[in-house]
Amino acid sequence: MADPVTDLGLADVALVDHHCHSVVRGPVDPSRFASLATEGDPPPPDASAFDSMLGLAIRRVCAPLLDLAPLAGADDYLRRRAELGADDVTRRLLRSTRTETYLVDTGFRAGELLSLAELAAAADARVGEVVRLEAIAERVAAGCSAAAYASAVSDAIAAAATSAVGLKSIAAYRVGLDLPARPPDAGAVARAADRWLTAGGARLDDPVLVTHAVHAGLATGLPLQFHTGFGDADEDLHRANPVLLAPLCRAVASPVLLLHCWPYHREAAWLAHVLPNVYLDVGLAIPYVGARAHAVLAETLEVAPFGKVLYSSDAFGLPELYAVAAALFRRACARVVGGLVDSGDATPDDARRIVTMVCGENARRVYGL
Ligand SMILES: [Zn+2]
Repeated sequence: MADPVTDLGLADVALVDHHCHSVVRGPVDPSRFASLATEGDPPPPDASAFDSMLGLAIRRVCAPLLDLAPLAGADDYLRRRAELGADDVTRRLLRSTRTETYLVDTGFRAGELLSLAELAAAADARVGEVVRLEAIAERVAAGCSAAAYASAVSDAIAAAATSAVGLKSIAAYRVGLDLPARPPDAGAVARAADRWLTAGGARLDDPVLVTHAVHAGLATGLPLQFHTGFGDADEDLHRANPVLLAPLCRAVASPVLLLHCWPYHREAAWLAHVLPNVYLDVGLAIPYVGARAHAVLAETLEVAPFGKVLYSSDAFGLPELYAVAAALFRRACARVVGGLVDSGDATPDDARRIVTMVCGENARRVYGL
């Protein structure tokens, strides 16, 4: 293939970003930029956010979108960003992604971010809402007794499911992913709710209550996303290995979507291979591994069926993260899938079909978009 991005139609294929957050409202000064350009705690003042694979990718992908030369220096980039203003930068970077639909997790720091309607307008795209089970349980629990907890939370999750396109759990952060395959009984939930509410409630980190919320989510039949693998300093990474979810995934019929997965993307790919209801993405990893995105995608596609891999950015806050994720994903697809054509292992038609599936078709089918 002369130019796989063009030959595979990758430049034009519309993306469905099945897991992202929204963009921060208003101007972003250099220190805020630095804290939003990492999954970690804010870097020390003498470390540049640009000294990373993500930093290189921002300079390569985003600088030209702000009328600078590719790989323009970090200071020039931030100066140009401030000069254009937040609204213009957000519009330019979001629209560069050619994303037709964003499925937005509204359960994390939503107050700092553009509303769904504002995001849709800035991106000129459709948006759908993904609601967090733990956030619903925390909201409901604030006003109910231990005895009423189980049905109040189940009812609230069922109600949220009527307008959301999907559900999400952050069990990995709260209790780990080795969740029981069966829901806890009503007595166990009431006792756990009593203990948790007596201790002050607030952050849902009781294993019985998290399991209850997850099973209430699965009972709605909506696709359920799980944070797995790569995340911020708040998680124990080994408890976020997606293979820990195998017993739960085997026991249910609802679609289960494993988000991020890195460095366990091979384990997640196996789970998607063996269980018909399991899907995965390598969002979040893609922007952070930068020019190594093709390697992560290639390892994912080793055993994951092509109909089980979805695109997501997991972008939060900075519009740069959407632009970088989309550009790197297109390039990674070109290199990995185009490579199959170059080596005689697939026809150009096969390659175009695979690209269409992972960029959007799989997500449209799973979420019924
Ligand atoms: Zn996320």
